[in-house]
Amino acid sequence: MDFDFSEAEQKFAVEVEQWLVDNHDPEVMDLTRENFSQLADTPARRAFMKRLAKQGWLGMSWPKQYGGQEIKGVYEFILNEALARHGAPQIGKGVGIIGKTLIRHGSEKLKKEFLPQILSAEVEFAVGYSEPQAGSDSANMQLKAERVEGGWKLNGQKMWTTSAHFADWYWVGARTDPEKKKHDGLSLFLIPMNHPNLEIQSLPTIGKDTTNQVFFEDVFVPEDYMVGKQGSGFRYIAEALDLERFTMFTLSPIEDRSNLLVEWVKSATRDDEPLRNDVNVRRTIAHIVTDTHVAKGLSKRFLSAAMSGGDKPPSIESSEYKLFTTTLSQRVCKDALDITGAAGQIREGEEDAPLAGRFEGAYRATLNETVGGGSSEIQKNIIARRKLGLPKNF
Ligand SMILES: Cc1cc2nc3c(=O)[nH]c(=O)nc-3n(C[C@H](O)[C@H](O)[C@H](O)COP(=O)(O)OP(=O)(O)OC[C@H]3O[C@@H](n4cnc5c(N)ncnc54)[C@H](O)[C@@H]3O)c2cc1C
Repeated sequence: MDFDFSEAEQKFAVEVEQWLVDNHDPEVMDLTRENFSQLADTPARRAFMKRLAKQGWLGMSWPKQYGGQEIKGVYEFILNEALARHGAPQIGKGVGIIGKTLIRHGSEKLKKEFLPQILSAEVEFAVGYSEPQAGSDSANMQLKAERVEGGWKLNGQKMWTTSAHFADWYWVGARTDPEKKKHDGLSLFLIPMNHPNLEIQSLPTIGKDTTNQVFFEDVFVPEDYMVGKQGSGFRYIAEALDLERFTMFTLSPIEDRSNLLVEWVKSATRDDEPLRNDVNVRRTIAHIVTDTHVAKGLSKRFLSAAMSGGDKPPSIESSEYKLFTTTLSQRVCKDALDITGAAGQIREGEEDAPLAGRFEGAYRATLNETVGGGSSEIQKNIIARRKLGLPKNF
């Protein structure tokens, strides 16, 4: 069994790393935003994505007929992990979720309109699944889509739409067939984010970034901006969520934090005693480092399943990866705060903050990770049902 990247993959990793060093820009790269650093939400970050597109690094795994290179998904994995390691925006939503779903299920019109824009990084998307009564139970979406002449009229509310305040297009699930069973009554739409009948309100998170709630009042969507078939929205969303769980929760920032903590512990002291001699600190560090290796193993398992399976993203492997990795991400921060003691709570930017306050900020930011993209409990349910064959709990 060989867990290493091939020679060509390693060469690509070196090329990407060098490109990121050459294109280093503090206005674009911000490790302290943790998982939110993946967003291309400022002009500088969007310009960076365009440079990445010029490199030919967007949509590498897409079929050639849609502008891709049909190369293995491992190259996108390598690229995304490197981007995350530098705190740079990542290829997540456009290439990984919207693009791949349109390739599988979209009409020729939508493919023609959106796929080239995704490949050249000219478009950013927001994803609208969650609502006040539809989070974990995303099939319970109540955003109402009524048929009108030439298309659909949408009314209702979305919650937690992270990119609504800067995106160009909104990828939205709505109920088109209320008389059908809840999973069969949903359809997906693409709506321009600057539609005059959409109202966006900011929702602060416990970290430093914000998400949004969005209100719809008679939002007209032309017929041909429905994605795929009417009533198949939930199936497309479920597939896209499997992609999200993997592509939007990268491992390299966890490795980075874990290495930072290990380095710090090597020379830090408490009451004039080297911390590295403290048995509890040693045990904690050993667990973190070991579990980071386990997370790496789970990511390779997902990759292997994704590359050897059919055209659907692997669901169980993606849930196992998301559950373990986002829990570990929080634990590394919590353990770092325990080890650094009271001073660990001093915020980034303050002079006395140990490790430049990285862990205080990361602790708050990572609390979002076990909720967004499907909570840990939901990942456990998926593993229990689909892997272990246990009965449904709801
Ligand atoms: C930072 C952030 C960004 C987000 N961005 C987006 C976005 O861009 N677009 C979008 O559509 N959504 C987004 N979300 C929403 C996210 O997907 C939901 O928050 C998530 O699905 C949980 O839904 P909920 O908040 O309604 O909690 P609920 O579903 O109400 O869950 C509450 C609690 O009950 C538990 N629970 C629920 N059902 C079960 C069950 N069957 N068995 C066991 N336990 C259960 C949950 O695990 C949780 O602990 C984002 C969330 C966050 C935090």
